Amino acid sequence: MIELHLHLDGSLSEKELNEIRNKFYPGEEIPFTPVRFDGRGGLGAYLQCFRYPLLLLRKPESVYYAIKLLSKRLHSEGVDYIEIRFAPALHKGYASVGEIARAAASAAKELNEEGLYTGIIFCCMRGAEKEENALVSKLTAMHVESGSGVVGGDLAGDEGRYPNDGYSFVFSALAEAGVPFTVHAGEASGADSVRSAIAFGARRIGHGVAAAKDDYTMSLIKERGVTAELCYTSNLQTGAWKEGEYPLRKFLRYGIKATLNSDNTAVSGTNLKREYALLKVNAEEEKRLFLNAFEGAFPNAAAAEFFDKKGGSDA
Ligand SMILES: [Zn+2]
Repeated sequence: MIELHLHLDGSLSEKELNEIRNKFYPGEEIPFTPVRFDGRGGLGAYLQCFRYPLLLLRKPESVYYAIKLLSKRLHSEGVDYIEIRFAPALHKGYASVGEIARAAASAAKELNEEGLYTGIIFCCMRGAEKEENALVSKLTAMHVESGSGVVGGDLAGDEGRYPNDGYSFVFSALAEAGVPFTVHAGEASGADSVRSAIAFGARRIGHGVAAAKDDYTMSLIKERGVTAELCYTSNLQTGAWKEGEYPLRKFLRYGIKATLNSDNTAVSGTNLKREYALLKVNAEEEKRLFLNAFEGAFPNAAAAEFFDKKGGSDA
């Protein structure tokens, strides 16, 4: 299995987080808040679940450790290649954004050397200071170029309040550096947000379920060969998808490169195997989803090595 859409801060279990607290913050008062979403209160309540992990991922060594811990666990659960994303600027406090980014890059580099194929995506944040997003874009380009295991960029955050138009400087900085990027779009906003992300050059769309209600947008995603990163449980929990059959099969019927992902294994209380089971993905669909993810993975040395081994034939 391949996982393309997974957040570091939303995917560490309470047990793993407590281990990080004891290891890197001994004697410090870190207030605990529940990590797992209880299903009530929509997106606002869902985002509250990231508080505790974000307090614990502010030291480069804790970020480095967390990425290794998470990647190893996911590989043990049957994920062969994974792209883990997070927003380095949300993790400062003990160290600079650059030091956090470097720690993540070196964790990925070492995991890939062990054959635990892992790419890192740095997220810019909607609503953050312009300088901060400019810095993260620059760090993304720098690390992607160095071949350290950082593979691409993302724009995450409150899509409803901060539409794509305000982040053209992020998209152009990444595009000019030749860095592929995904954009969280069509999750809290409509199909227009998906179209604008594609117009800005997104190679992948995070969630994108709102597009299912608009045939023109679906055709556009297909025509441009954009990969859709659908996240079933998360989409139900946040209300991104409210009624009717979940659109994964509609995306596939359109010939869109749709993929199925976990988004936040800890917050959503899921993992990739469970997502496949919940949607009763059959063997043929599983093979399609695997090939879509295979093609949608951001180009990098680890993915190339993994693809060489798998030869595109194994689902
Ligand atoms: Zn996400």
